[in-house]
Amino acid sequence: MKAKAAILVESCKPLVIEEIEIPKLTFGQVLVKVICSGICGAQINEINAVKGPDKFLPHLLGHEATAEVMEIGEGVTTVKVGDRVVMHWRKGAGIHAPTPKYKSKLGLVNSGWVTTFNEYAIASENRVTTVPDNLDPECGALMGCAVTTAFGVLNNDAQVRIGDSVAVFGSGGVGLSVIQGAKMVSAHPIIAIDIVDNKLEMAKKMGATHTINSKNEDVIVKIKEIVGNNGVDIAIETTGNVKVIETAYEVTSASGKTILVGVPKKGEKPSLYTLPLHFEKVLKGTEGGRTVPDRDIPKYIRLIDAGKLDLKQLVTDRYDFDKINDAIADLQAQKIVGRCMINISK
Ligand SMILES: [Zn+2]
Repeated sequence: MKAKAAILVESCKPLVIEEIEIPKLTFGQVLVKVICSGICGAQINEINAVKGPDKFLPHLLGHEATAEVMEIGEGVTTVKVGDRVVMHWRKGAGIHAPTPKYKSKLGLVNSGWVTTFNEYAIASENRVTTVPDNLDPECGALMGCAVTTAFGVLNNDAQVRIGDSVAVFGSGGVGLSVIQGAKMVSAHPIIAIDIVDNKLEMAKKMGATHTINSKNEDVIVKIKEIVGNNGVDIAIETTGNVKVIETAYEVTSASGKTILVGVPKKGEKPSLYTLPLHFEKVLKGTEGGRTVPDRDIPKYIRLIDAGKLDLKQLVTDRYDFDKINDAIADLQAQKIVGRCMINISK
């Protein structure tokens, strides 16, 4: 069986759309048909090789999608053929299977435990979680990374309490989801910081009480105007820009927490005054919000069903699979206000 795939052949270049050959499943693997996939900063970073030279080229990409199970390999028990599933990069229940390799005209194409920029994908059992058939596929895709990361950061890393002041640096998919989650747990105020006015408008829709455009406003001065000189209880940094990391840390109160979601480019190092860390101040990086997909995704679906969580509004742009390079270019040019969604199969 063959499938269309968008393959990263060369770093910093558009993806190459080419057919891949689907191999036979081995122990713990699941073959899925990908319905729709989001694109997140991690894929942009992979394409741009920000962590250094890419040893795995050519390879597949993508880690948040909704899909349908077509076939299961030996040993698989948590999903069955016909199941609607969320594809995620955090490990969930089930077997941690070997990664597949796909034959193609370009030679062997490498793949991780989950990839979503291909019509058919072989995923490791522990990277797929069954969801109800009637779950909106776009909302499902967002639970593969953006939303689960954001809510995990709030619950597990920041441990936000009612009335905590929260500053969110960067209003991309994760930042906007953090804002929505912070509103749900009654944080106040919720301050969104970005350099694009449209994104700040979106942040307001998601629940930000204040917005700061750091291009033309002094973030530290503005935040202190809003919450007082002590700074915010929680600062969540989603951009990975070292200057922004420094600012997020600086505006965090002496007993507050700075949580890093964004990862700086290789070789870039923030400069921080560390003495407060010996007292109550906390600085930590999150690993995907320490989300446990099979535990957390069903909870969030309950909130969607109850009308308490609206993920659909996060999706602002949609592209056909053949236009995936346009989506990537628009993302890099900051043209996408919320999350973009790729229709992988029609
Ligand atoms: Zn992601």
